[in-house]
Amino acid sequence: MDDALKIVVIDDDPGALAVLASGLEDLASIETASTGEEGLSLVAVIQPDIVLLDIELPGLSGFEVCQQIKSNAYIKSPSIIFITSHHDYETERKALETGGIDFITKPFDLTLCRARVNNHLQIKRHEQAVLRARQQVEDERQYLKVILNSIADGVIATDVKGNVTFINPVAQRLTGWHKDSALGLYITDVMAITDATTNQVLPNPIEIALKEQRTVAMALNAKLTNRMGREYRVEDTAAPIRDIKQNLIGSVIVFQDVTESIALATQMTHLANHDQLTGLPNRMLLHDRVLQSIARARLTKKSLALLLIDIDNFKYLNDAIGHTVGDMIITQVAQRLEHLCDTESTVARVGGDEFVVMLPEIKSANVTDVTALNIIYTIQEPFSIAGDEHNLSVSIGISFYPSDSGSAEELMRHADTAMYRAKTTGKNRYCYFSTNLQLALNERVQIEKLLRSALEEESLIVQFQPKFDLNSGEVSGAEALVRLAAEDGSIVPPDRFIEFAEESGLIHELGRQVLYKSIQTAKKLYEQGKGTKIAVNIAAQQFHESDICEQVERMLNEAALPSHLIEIEVTESALMTDFAETREVLRKLSDLGVSIALDDFGTGYSSLSYLRTFPLDVLKIDRSFVIDMLTDEQAKNIVDVIVHLAHSLNLKLVGEGIETEEHWQALKQLGCEEGQGYYFSRPLNENDFFSLLANSSQMV
Ligand code: C2E
Ligand code: CA
Ligand code: CA
Repeated sequence: MDDALKIVVIDDDPGALAVLASGLEDLASIETASTGEEGLSLVAVIQPDIVLLDIELPGLSGFEVCQQIKSNAYIKSPSIIFITSHHDYETERKALETGGIDFITKPFDLTLCRARVNNHLQIKRHEQAVLRARQQVEDERQYLKVILNSIADGVIATDVKGNVTFINPVAQRLTGWHKDSALGLYITDVMAITDATTNQVLPNPIEIALKEQRTVAMALNAKLTNRMGREYRVEDTAAPIRDIKQNLIGSVIVFQDVTESIALATQMTHLANHDQLTGLPNRMLLHDRVLQSIARARLTKKSLALLLIDIDNFKYLNDAIGHTVGDMIITQVAQRLEHLCDTESTVARVGGDEFVVMLPEIKSANVTDVTALNIIYTIQEPFSIAGDEHNLSVSIGISFYPSDSGSAEELMRHADTAMYRAKTTGKNRYCYFSTNLQLALNERVQIEKLLRSALEEESLIVQFQPKFDLNSGEVSGAEALVRLAAEDGSIVPPDRFIEFAEESGLIHELGRQVLYKSIQTAKKLYEQGKGTKIAVNIAAQQFHESDICEQVERMLNEAALPSHLIEIEVTESALMTDFAETREVLRKLSDLGVSIALDDFGTGYSSLSYLRTFPLDVLKIDRSFVIDMLTDEQAKNIVDVIVHLAHSLNLKLVGEGIETEEHWQALKQLGCEEGQGYYFSRPLNENDFFSLLANSSQMV
């Protein structure tokens, strides 16, 4: 709504004032004054749009009042219409020259008078509208300026030729150009853009926007070098500017400093792709590189190799020396590996103590042998940390693209299988993946399934191989031997799953179940009045991280079986793994009354001091000596020595693997009192074992 227009009437004739005030009151708001002085102050206060001014006034004349209104800076020039009773030329000229715009004459013709005033009011209304529109435009301009000056993006506008017409403060800061010097310059002089990687000059998006008359995004990877040589990574768009008629009148570019976000993004990708401890590529990045290398090798018809490196026994070492030192060792291993490999190879850390070296192109036949050996040798060099020396070894598995597999995942798995083979064949060595290994792997998967379900269902088969008194030929005991039933009903011998059980930790449960079944069998015999001792094999691992002693004790108690009817067979390697701990456990078992046999004697370290240190009752002569002793004098001498040794230590002797009468006779002659073997009996199911016992006791 426009404001109501205001009129001030100045006349010393009260009749004239009254006529005008009432005659015009519907056109505008009317105020009146009867002297020039009074009128002037009224005008200053009211700021009317129109003043009706009598020329002949007492005191200040109408002309003087008009002049003062015009010259007073505080009065916004109203339109002045003179009231006159003279129609002479001179008065009209003077009135117009003083600044009046119209006349009304006395006596008033009210109709004419209203028409004139109304016309001038109309003009005033237009003026007001124009003023308001201008103000609006100005407000908008100010507003846009504030926006452009305060946005965080750089903004530069140019004319159609590409010369700068506007540059906001951010753009001034980024380009290093003050607006006073930048205005009028060609855009590339103010904003020089190059490719961040190649440093090649890139066209400014403004140029493209002007030339092709379309919106253009800035090239990826763009870098702005400013007036002072400072560099920023920038990103954003330019667009043509058109007037209302769609004519091109210039272009504008809006750009951002993304230096920091690019740095952050780079840092993040680095973090996501690298191992924190060693700074080496991690599994993810390795996978990427392997994929790339496979793609390249596919084109070049070359092969590549993966070497999976695992530090031997690192877990034990780490537990023993603490994780801080462990971490230092890992870091040094990483450095040594990096040092060994050329820039084309990738060295990655893919697990706690696992590394992978990828050779992206096999250039000579034996390069993997050489690399693997170099790795083994370099790791064998002692690691010295805080004055302590640590000795390490590694096992390495190697797989090839494309001969072993065409997929990155499978190559890794194959390298892992090969590494595993290197571990199980003695560590500190390297192995290649091969299809044989794959078959072994498949079997392993089969075995694992069988074993897990047998343990779950407690359906392990335990057979009993009788032991005989070599002099009387009578059954003197039995050894419990575990088997798995395969799906096709065949029997899987322990050689095919004990190792896996040990590695997977399933050996604890397996040992527990065999022990339980053996004690149950011994109990049945005991209840039949037969004191047949059952020997149970205990794996090295069972002496650690398990309560083997408590198990034996509890099971014996539950079965109410005298402890001397159970024997434990341990191997030398079990004694070796953790000397003190094993001795402690054996001591407790021995204190329980369980007897202890040293299995496979002669094949291991056979140190006399071990025999003295451990509470042993029985030595079992390994099958290999028994088999060889008939043909091999040295084997026979060894058995002879073992027999003497055992007797001097007060240990009972059991000969294993007696397959013929000759074996039996030879062992008997050497003084071995007990034995087992296929000649006497194969391992038997519990029932068969029971009937064998029944028959033999009948014989007695
Ligand atoms: P071991 O303790 O030395 O067991 C004797 C192995 O010799 C048995 O093989 C037995 O069947 C075999 N044998 C017996 N007499 C003869 C013979 O006259 N000639 C030949 N050639 N072999 C004979 P088996 O049952 O296959 O067991 C192999 C190994 O598996 C055992 O060797 C033992 O180390 C391990 N094992 C068996 N059962 C268990 C168990 O319950 N727990 C653990 N931890 N290991 C077990
Ligand atoms: Ca045994
Ligand atoms: Ca044995």
